[in-house]
Amino acid sequence: ITRHGYARTRVSQAEALALEPALAASQSLWIGATYTQGDGSGDAKLWTQTLAELCQAQGVSFRFNETVQRLITNGKRVTGIGLAGQSTLLEADAVVVALGSYSAPLLRPLGLKIPVYPVKGYSATVPILDPTATPKVSITDDAHKMVFTRMGNEFRIAGTAEFNGYDTTLSATRCDALLARAKALFPKAADYSNPTFWTGLRPATPSNCPLIGRTRMANLFLNTGHGTLGWTTGCGSGKALAEIVSGQKPEVDFSFSGL
Ligand SMILES: Cc1cc2nc3c(=O)[nH]c(=O)nc-3n(C[C@H](O)[C@H](O)[C@H](O)COP(=O)(O)OP(=O)(O)OC[C@H]3O[C@@H](n4cnc5c(N)ncnc54)[C@H](O)[C@@H]3O)c2cc1C
Repeated sequence: ITRHGYARTRVSQAEALALEPALAASQSLWIGATYTQGDGSGDAKLWTQTLAELCQAQGVSFRFNETVQRLITNGKRVTGIGLAGQSTLLEADAVVVALGSYSAPLLRPLGLKIPVYPVKGYSATVPILDPTATPKVSITDDAHKMVFTRMGNEFRIAGTAEFNGYDTTLSATRCDALLARAKALFPKAADYSNPTFWTGLRPATPSNCPLIGRTRMANLFLNTGHGTLGWTTGCGSGKALAEIVSGQKPEVDFSFSGL
């Protein structure tokens, strides 16, 4: 990450504790850290909903609660978009497939195979009991592949990677593992007896790089496969895709060059 100009430094345990005093409770479990000053965290749901409102105010029309069932083509371009429960097909100058993990099954009947597979992640949210024992800095536990973030009065723990198709049910073992690690690192932070769990499917690619670009159908584009970092990279991906749809070269140079 530093090779790409993003500041990330190694810090000693004492330096890490100065940056994040809430780590003191678990200092026997770790010996140092890396610190990325430019890192931040936020509420993805609030951000997404507010962005949609801003877009609507700019004239964008959303069709919520519709399911795209199929794409109809003439072999060269998409000529219609079939929605569940509707006989009329939608038509569009440009069609962008951005269905996360569900992009692959929609494209398969067109003979377009993309290496995107659902990888289930878990999230637990617990009410904060002691703000001084809860980290203000977003913490990543690299060894356990978990992240810990304060969100207002709540403490969010997320992580794990489960390969189980499109199933989104909760595994009690994985839920317990999230809470156990949070308790070990931040024992006094939150009321761990009152968690809210959630799972989501990360649209994973083998390289963790998204597929953004053209397909062999002239008006069909991809913006999918964002894996573990779709919120972080969403804005940049959208900008790159808009440049491609507009016939320009994206400002960012990335490996995917079309399908
Ligand atoms: C527990 C967890 C923690 C995460 N933490 C982070 C993080 O800290 N930072 C980060 O950057 N990323 C994080 N991610 C990853 C991030 O959530 C994903 O990369 C991102 O959501 C992918 O965005 P997307 O819009 O491509 O796909 P999705 O968010 O999956 O959205 C796809 C949308 O398409 C809709 N859809 C699917 N099929 C159809 C259809 N046939 N017709 C109509 N609509 C359809 C779905 O309902 C959904 O709304 C996390 C993921 C999980 C599971």
